[in-house]
Amino acid sequence: MSILAIDAGTTGVTAVVVTPDGRIQAKGYQEFRQHFPQPGWVEHSAEEIWQATLEATREVLTKVDQSELTAVGITNQRETVVLWDRETLGSPRRAIVWQDRRTADICDRLRADGHEDRVAELTGLRLDPYFSGTKLMWLAENEPHTWALVESGRYAVGTVDSYLIARMTRGTWHVTDVSNACRTLLLDLVSGEWSDELCELFGVPRDALPDLVPNWGEIAPTDPAVFLGLSLPIAGVAGDQQSALFGQTCFEEGESKCTYGTGSFILTNTGTRVVRSDAGLLSTAAWRSPDGELTYALEGAIFVTGAAVQWLRDGLQIVGNAAETAAIAATVDDTDGVVFVPALTGLGAPHWDPHARGTILGITRGTTRAHLVRATLEGIAFEVRDVLETLPELTTLRVDGGAAENDFLCQLQADQVGRAVERPEIVETTALGAAFLAGLGTGVWGSTDDLRDTWALDRRFEPGGDRAALDASYARWTDAVERSKGWAD
Ligand code: ADP
Repeated sequence: MSILAIDAGTTGVTAVVVTPDGRIQAKGYQEFRQHFPQPGWVEHSAEEIWQATLEATREVLTKVDQSELTAVGITNQRETVVLWDRETLGSPRRAIVWQDRRTADICDRLRADGHEDRVAELTGLRLDPYFSGTKLMWLAENEPHTWALVESGRYAVGTVDSYLIARMTRGTWHVTDVSNACRTLLLDLVSGEWSDELCELFGVPRDALPDLVPNWGEIAPTDPAVFLGLSLPIAGVAGDQQSALFGQTCFEEGESKCTYGTGSFILTNTGTRVVRSDAGLLSTAAWRSPDGELTYALEGAIFVTGAAVQWLRDGLQIVGNAAETAAIAATVDDTDGVVFVPALTGLGAPHWDPHARGTILGITRGTTRAHLVRATLEGIAFEVRDVLETLPELTTLRVDGGAAENDFLCQLQADQVGRAVERPEIVETTALGAAFLAGLGTGVWGSTDDLRDTWALDRRFEPGGDRAALDASYARWTDAVERSKGWAD
């Protein structure tokens, strides 16, 4: 008995097989291309996401006994919008990714027309290009020929989870879950149903959207003819951050995690209540059980953290791989006055400025690669501190995600926020969460208590350092953030 979990992330797809003791038995990974057609725009080819899914799955299947697999769980980058032909499953255009800033003007227009309060009240979100709704509006306004086929019913509209389920079931199923749906600006957060009012405001035909299913239970069967011979129930689905919250076993109100991937996302379980923040956090659905109970979370969404490290590697080409940033940063005692605000795709929580851009201040002739690398890791820790400052009651921070492997970063984080940082043995918590959901949906685990028993600590980073110096560097950061705002306006 084991579970296949697919994590269709922003930079690549990971496939893992998880055993009933909650360990990752085997893994496959396939990166896919990032398309940047214009400054601030980010697109993915849906077909490439599907091919990467097949490739990552193929790889993991070579390492396990396929007959042991009982179910599939799916987790995915959220908010990214995909269109596909219901018959051929081909996409008429590339997906518009959550990081894409092209709809900043549409958001400004909607705000000027007085829609922000009502949208926030219904969705728990805000008017920011991050969310799917204005991306769909942009398609309708800029690509009317494509949009006409959405309106005629030929093209389906969905997020990456729905697209993968459509591909795995050869177009038989068009479904999503609340954790993905609540990020589109089209879902009524309290009822957990699509909102006619919001569909009308954003001009999205309700019939183009997927049906809502619970986060675990038998959701749809995979078609072996198109999914590598696998005939398995898809039994768990959740957006990546809610999946990580589940994978960290944060099932109780008040339990929180921070994932360091492309961006960083701090989520706090708020139980069955929608809690609203006036400090720039989002209210979001966490999951819905098969008996219909909705669990919610507060979320601090930071767009670029690990992606700044990726930019050091691929853009500037000053590091060979992400992991070596820890050792490089440790070669200098400080950044020598350099501050890097990694607002490469604007600023999310708690600042929310789609017009902000990456800003590096304080460069001198003495600045070296090591200073810049250290400033990048510090920038990540500062961004997370900005969000944690709005959650004062949090005592310990559970971390996960690719960049949480970086010991230097984890220690910086503990020092900056003055709280302990706990890293579990498995940092691929996003994929783990999808496996947990699918296993809960098929009886591999009987309850969330069984899942909790599988959580194991790898390392606890205790806060230290010189408090006054840490706070002084944070004050410089705050100043730098202000200077990064409005640049691309
Ligand atoms: P996602 O699911 O968003 O694609 P992952 O959890 O796979 O992200 O994490 C990958 C991101 O983390 C990349 O942006 C990469 O640059 C960064 N990263 C990975 N390992 C490290 C590391 N050791 N130190 C710093 N950043 C890292």
